[in-house]
Amino acid sequence: MVWKPSEKEEEYFARMEFEKKKKQEEEKQKKLAGVEKKKLKELHDMKCPKCGMELIEIDYKSIKIDKCSGCEGVWLDAGELETVSQLEKTGLDKFFGAFRK
Ligand SMILES: [Zn+2]
Repeated sequence: MVWKPSEKEEEYFARMEFEKKKKQEEEKQKKLAGVEKKKLKELHDMKCPKCGMELIEIDYKSIKIDKCSGCEGVWLDAGELETVSQLEKTGLDKFFGAFRK
């Protein structure tokens, strides 16, 4: 067997080429995941997580509540549950009264 230094080199460059392409592919996949995420966000934005119908935003004492136009489920954004839980009893009654049919 005749050992040629250039063969080793070629193997090295082939591996480098592979690593480079692999990285490019990974970047592409990352970007694709971002696009997919954006698509899902657009698809689900202001849609009821239960029935998929349009959510209607109701402003009540600086709390923005999303109420479903289909199943009438009420959804809170991050941090809003804490705000609701800090309401006084009368405020809480009014809060729920606003959503009663
Ligand atoms: Zn719904």
